[in-house]
Amino acid sequence: MEKKDILKSSHFSDFLKPSQIVFNLKAKDKIQAIDELLDVLAKQKLIENKKLILTRIIDRERLESTAIGHGVALPHARVDTGEDIEVVVGISREGIDFDAIDKKKVRLIILIVWNPFIPGLFNHLFAGIAQFLIKPEYRRRIFEAESKSKLYNILSEIELRLPTQEDRIINRASLLWKLQDLEIKKKKASKDKKRELEKKANFIREELDESLLDRFDRLMNRYGFAVAEVDDGACQGCNINVATRMSSLIEGSNDIYVCENCGKFLVASKKKKS
Ligand SMILES: [Zn+2]
Repeated sequence: MEKKDILKSSHFSDFLKPSQIVFNLKAKDKIQAIDELLDVLAKQKLIENKKLILTRIIDRERLESTAIGHGVALPHARVDTGEDIEVVVGISREGIDFDAIDKKKVRLIILIVWNPFIPGLFNHLFAGIAQFLIKPEYRRRIFEAESKSKLYNILSEIELRLPTQEDRIINRASLLWKLQDLEIKKKKASKDKKRELEKKANFIREELDESLLDRFDRLMNRYGFAVAEVDDGACQGCNINVATRMSSLIEGSNDIYVCENCGKFLVASKKKKS
């Protein structure tokens, strides 16, 4: 497939075949589940070097769980697959502990392995899936699907599109916050420690859009930080109040917003969450 065509693709079914669905996962834990799903891709010769990919995905999970809440996890790794992107879906009847933010067991796992040569492709896919699964009605239909083909049909409805507002990236705020933390630590770290932090930071960078990273780096250079919490309705980067509507949207969300006053990325205050 031409790379350009992939970016034009508009549905999840462009990436998923019924044979890439495990309707009843045997796995009892996170690592087993990832392993079982990768087996499917390996058996169909969609990936080579399963062991390496498994390690990459687990490393990524250690950085931050990819469970996005409501019983859904999106484990992933950026590796040099022969093809551009490979996807496999698994349903667990009993649920699997994935260290989810809402502590809920995960019942739907969508595993994604993608090639580093297409920037934006992963975000395209991730945003589309997250936007679809945020709706309780769709999740209910997925969890209640009686057969593999019914599940396939529901998943096929997922439309893939880039987030509409340039600066609002779905479900990535905690990742950006972590990146800032790593960059700050890196400045003071010893040589060995620096390398380790760099590795973690690159994991995150691989997943974020280039335009977002450009802005992030510019803010880091200029102010020493790029992400600011919203506390009591005010941006902690400039102490100016954020529009009430925006402030309430940010609260409890993992989306990224931008302060209209100072241009820093805004995230929900951690104090309030705990
Ligand atoms: Zn501000």
